Amino acid sequence: MTSAAASFSYGTPILEITYIIASVLFVIGLKMLSHPLTARRGNIMAAIGMCLAIAATIIFHRKDGEPIGNIPLILLAIVVGTAIGWIIAKRVKMTAMPQLVSFFNGMGGAAAALISMMEFPHVSADLIERTGMANGHVLAILLGLLIGTVSWAGSMIAFGKLDGWIGDLRVKEMKYVNLTILAVMLGLIVFIMTREVEASRELMPFIYLLFGIAVIYGVLFVMPIGGADMPVVISLLNSFTGVAAAMGGFLYNNQAMLTGGILVGSAGTILTVLMCKAMNRSLLNVIIGVFGGGGAAAGSTAGTVREISLSDAAVLLAYSKKIVIVPGYGLAVAQAQHICHELDKLLDEKGVEVRYAIHPVAGRMPGHMNVLLAEADVPYEQLIESEEINPDLPNTDVVMVIGANDVVNPAAEDDPSSPIYGMPIVRARDAKNIIVMKRGMGKGYAAIENMLFFNPKTRMLFGDAKQTLQNLVSEIKNL
Ligand code: NDP
Repeated sequence: MTSAAASFSYGTPILEITYIIASVLFVIGLKMLSHPLTARRGNIMAAIGMCLAIAATIIFHRKDGEPIGNIPLILLAIVVGTAIGWIIAKRVKMTAMPQLVSFFNGMGGAAAALISMMEFPHVSADLIERTGMANGHVLAILLGLLIGTVSWAGSMIAFGKLDGWIGDLRVKEMKYVNLTILAVMLGLIVFIMTREVEASRELMPFIYLLFGIAVIYGVLFVMPIGGADMPVVISLLNSFTGVAAAMGGFLYNNQAMLTGGILVGSAGTILTVLMCKAMNRSLLNVIIGVFGGGGAAAGSTAGTVREISLSDAAVLLAYSKKIVIVPGYGLAVAQAQHICHELDKLLDEKGVEVRYAIHPVAGRMPGHMNVLLAEADVPYEQLIESEEINPDLPNTDVVMVIGANDVVNPAAEDDPSSPIYGMPIVRARDAKNIIVMKRGMGKGYAAIENMLFFNPKTRMLFGDAKQTLQNLVSEIKNL
């Protein structure tokens, strides 16, 4: 333990042991979250770990031999926070989860930034006398402030975008502006750490300046990102919050906070890298806020739309050999997962092979389709990653697109000016027949035209996905 940290944290052995138990619970919980069947229990395990860590800190933590003060205030904050979080989480619709995740993530970043703001003026005079401001303790405070603030500001913008009340702001020179701001912030950190002062308090104006610039950076770096690229930035912001929390762990020499932060940070970073790969984007471009083609959306003078009747669709499906279902956000909105599974079981009884093509960003959160279909008990083996199923689509009799749009949009391959250009897609257009189920000609999240709907092989089956699937099941049963 460093002497800087020693002035903060003195735990009893019980506290240290509880932190280790909490950390183990975090790790096991995280591991269990990686599979839909164990995810719920994993979540509970990690929550138990967090409750243990918080309770043990309140009871056993000692600072300079003194127990924690302000217990009634702390308990009040916990009760109020828990009540608000509980109500929001109970009420939120499954399709609004990404906004909620973004908002909660932002709160984590804000908490980390606040910790830094509170602790900076209290850097001990003894430490400053020995090392000046250039020490690990001050660095952890400054990085916690910088990363936590960027995460908070960025998450709030992402929240607004996912909720549909903030649009995209794409300016070509944005990346240079962002790179400059990044350099200024790092410069400011070096400046603060090289000042010769008697008390850190004297440097508070620079701390507020760093906070202000970090807010601007957080806003500017998320503003240009939109449409199909949102999932990448959400997981990146998530990892930022983890790293910011880990800085707090260093600061207080608190193992639970450190492990929790590192786990969130590293899991978020791994997810970001995987998402970047899945979306064909570079990590550096994500960090400086450069995404997609950024061009205008394709016009809507796209050609003729053909419809298919329910009875024709039923016949086509029932007499096919191979069918691939592409589920998307609309399936989640319609809550049509159960009836969709009923349809696939019905077709299976008729000897049709039915599989699901799962695109990494279908829906509104990573793994959304997996969770949705697992809820309806669709066997996991039936869910195939889009990358894996694409080569087999030319041999597929019917691809049935249910409430999906962007993830099957050929503009990602054909139109370099499209904002989704470069994103891998489910190549629905390669199939022999394409049926698209949606309510009308509404656009997807990226708000662009989809030429698949005008493809001569495509026929539209308009209506709410749940209702249409119910009608389709009845129709097939009557064949
Ligand atoms: P899209 O958002 O592209 O399209 C969904 C389609 O569903 C709409 O075009 C809509 O058309 C249709 N729809 C809506 N409600 C219903 C309903 N009740 N019944 C039938 N159809 C309905 O969905 P995708 O899944 O294809 O793509 C996901 C998009 O979201 C991507 O751009 C992705 O980047 C983005 N995103 C993903 C996140 C993630 O982590 N997965 C997070 C944030 C964004 P109509 O109105 O005509 O019915």
